[in-house]
Amino acid sequence: MPARWVQALLEVQATDLRIRDLETRMSLLPGELTKLKEKRDKVAAGTAAAADAARKIERAIKANESEIARLTEESKKLQQQSAMVKKNTEYQAMLNTIALNKNKIGDLEGKVLELMDQFEAAKVNCRKVKTANDATIQTIRGEFEELVAFAGEVKEEIKKLRESRPGMIRFVDNDTLGRYNALLGGKNGGTPLVKVENGICGSCHLRVSPQVMNDISKGAVTYCANCQHLLYDDEAQPE
Ligand SMILES: [Zn+2]
Repeated sequence: MPARWVQALLEVQATDLRIRDLETRMSLLPGELTKLKEKRDKVAAGTAAAADAARKIERAIKANESEIARLTEESKKLQQQSAMVKKNTEYQAMLNTIALNKNKIGDLEGKVLELMDQFEAAKVNCRKVKTANDATIQTIRGEFEELVAFAGEVKEEIKKLRESRPGMIRFVDNDTLGRYNALLGGKNGGTPLVKVENGICGSCHLRVSPQVMNDISKGAVTYCANCQHLLYDDEAQPE
């Protein structure tokens, strides 16, 4: 059985490593939530684009129809005026314009029919896209809510772990705790207190000296000379 300080510190360490993992997980959440929002916006933009496409065709139909109305009105006026014109050339010019308008109106009517078909297809597409995208947005919203709920659970667990920590810590002296905390907060993010197995440091995997092994077996607070990590031995029998 390892020394009392080892048992206590192992408990503290298990708590701290769990907190560190949870905090790492938490740090990823804002990015994940942002990604979901972006995904939702993109899908919503797709729905809006389909609606826009339909509206654009509708506007084109209206523009063509008003041009038909204008040309019809113009021809009607020319028709009335032509009855009162005396000069033959003027009369011919009016008839020419009326004939030209008739052609233009014919073309425009053909175009309107084409656009009507396109408009119907666009409306069908718009409904289809909206149905599919609304379902996708619903799914995204569900994922978002799940993540928010998960964040709440993680926060709660971190809080509970923090509260449980001080009780375990009283068997570890301040110097050892200071070293331990420095290692825990270190850049490499490793495990501060590691097991020695077959004389090998559990952190850097180098062999520890016989002197260090001797200290460990006595239950003294011992560090690896190479990586500075705290060491313990499951087999040690401190007196
Ligand atoms: Zn080491």
